[in-house]
Amino acid sequence: MFRNISKTIKEIRDDFFLYLWFLLGQQNLKKIEKETASAAQIQKKLLKSILRLQKNTQYGKKYNFATIRSATDFQKAHPLTTYEHYKSIIEDIANTGNFTQLVAEPITFFQVTSGTTGKGKLIPRTKRLSLSFLKISQAMGAFAESYYQKQRISTKNCRTLGLVNALPLDSTPSGILTGSPTSKGLRQLNKSKLARQFVGLKFTSSASVFLIPDYKEAYYCHLLFALLEPRLSSISANFASNILEALQTLEQKWPQLVDDIEFGRIDRNLNLDPATREELESSLQPNPALAESLRTEFEKGFQGILPRIWNQLSCIACITTGSMRLYRERLEYYANGVPFYSGAYGASEAWIGINLDPQREPQSYVIAPHSAFFEFIPIKEIDADTPTTVDLTSLCIGESYEIVVTTVAGLYRYRMGDIVRCIGFYNQSPIVEFLYRRGSLLNLAGEKVSEDTIFTALTEGIKTFGDDCQIVDYSIQMEFSSHPWRYAIYLEVSKILETPSNLQLFRDKIEQVICELNQVYSILRKSNIIGALELNLVSKDSFKELKTKIISQGSSEAQFKMPRLLNNLKPELVEFLQDKVYYRASSTQRTLERSLIH
Ligand code: AMP
Repeated sequence: MFRNISKTIKEIRDDFFLYLWFLLGQQNLKKIEKETASAAQIQKKLLKSILRLQKNTQYGKKYNFATIRSATDFQKAHPLTTYEHYKSIIEDIANTGNFTQLVAEPITFFQVTSGTTGKGKLIPRTKRLSLSFLKISQAMGAFAESYYQKQRISTKNCRTLGLVNALPLDSTPSGILTGSPTSKGLRQLNKSKLARQFVGLKFTSSASVFLIPDYKEAYYCHLLFALLEPRLSSISANFASNILEALQTLEQKWPQLVDDIEFGRIDRNLNLDPATREELESSLQPNPALAESLRTEFEKGFQGILPRIWNQLSCIACITTGSMRLYRERLEYYANGVPFYSGAYGASEAWIGINLDPQREPQSYVIAPHSAFFEFIPIKEIDADTPTTVDLTSLCIGESYEIVVTTVAGLYRYRMGDIVRCIGFYNQSPIVEFLYRRGSLLNLAGEKVSEDTIFTALTEGIKTFGDDCQIVDYSIQMEFSSHPWRYAIYLEVSKILETPSNLQLFRDKIEQVICELNQVYSILRKSNIIGALELNLVSKDSFKELKTKIISQGSSEAQFKMPRLLNNLKPELVEFLQDKVYYRASSTQRTLERSLIH
């Protein structure tokens, strides 16, 4: 009886703890909503406080922050910048630790960007910036919980399969930690008992699973512990691609996972460190009944598997916009109607926005006025020498802009390279749809074809092969070595295509849709200034292998985004993909003419 009472007390305490966390998030959500109602004022105050905070740094003195009185003064005194502007200062801070060159408070961490194009950038983090990220991520969690979770918040029905893991961190010569912020955050689990306790309540995996450095092994264990929880409430990861990777692991490894559940152990072939294995296995018990029911479901196939094995699954939280659209479509196969919540729009430099209307398609984000001082370059000016900017509350609905941020952590009028479209307002704050990254634009001769256009062309083109053929992944190279210059698309599809006539039609269709969507491309093709697009089909798993290669060079799976533009990639990685080509379709004059009729 005493054991039962103490169990009940523990459950009440745990539920209370979870509920408190939810309330904290809700409070932050309310704050952000309130801030959108006075966005102009919040922005003004934020800029003032950043300039006041940094005015005595070497950087602040150089640009006379102390004398700046308004946003207009600031824009006159300080140019628009890119990473190049800060590179030498940041390298010096990394070497000497002398952060006061740039910021008044210590740099606690450098986030390393992926570095597929060369050496990764180091983006400074300070305590203030981290707190601003925390505020919005808690708010997003609370929004998702109250929107999708129909039952009372409790440890019994609020468990999440969280698909992240901690990579080892590195440090600069002066001792500042570097790496991915997710890894930095998860490393806290080593230090904080409270954080470990929270993870144990909120997620199906214990802290030790999140600390497994290899993502493949971490995903296996995350899946194992999630399968043990039939009342799983949500799945969460940074990107749709992370969830797809995990579900492919499930599809491949379910026999081992089910055996592990049956016998209460972890597959011997999994390369876990002995202490982690011992700890994780100590929490497992043989469960033949659950193993049998899971085996039955897996044997039926993977279409719609998620709601079949977790019938209380209420949402899949991950970014599904931008280059993640492709994976979102493939995830539908497994999800069979379980809703997706693309809650976050953020970057290492600053968190940009939060999705407050998941019903709206395409998924869109309300810009969070507290997270940075925002400016926007109208799309027609992005290539100008000195573009003008508009402020947060003055965007025009339907217009596109590049985002510029001034942050609390030492970036001033920094061009993010992200192009967004304003689709409305939430109080005074714009709601934006992510369009593309400026650096991923295809531009041989002034045509500026966006990633979105290529994606639409590929999805239209693939229909040539019927419903059962899907795009697995793709990248594009602007070929300056061919005459005339042209695009070469490297594409992996879900089945081997061996019908050359259809492949030629596929290629033609892609080119036709690009011509329809981009008039300049169409004109340049007609005059043969741009040559016929080349379609290269690559063999099965080529992109998976490319990803493994990029990740093995130090990127994290949680942050990984497939590079769409091969011109930005290291030459050996491009050659790797080129070696995988099994079919090449370039236009004959006849097909070229056909594709240009429109
Ligand atoms: P990172 O700094 O590596 O975290 O990457 C940040 C970049 O990822 C942003 O600048 C965007 O280009 C992209 N990104 C982040 N969130 C989203 C989103 N919700 N939709 C589309 N792209 C996004």
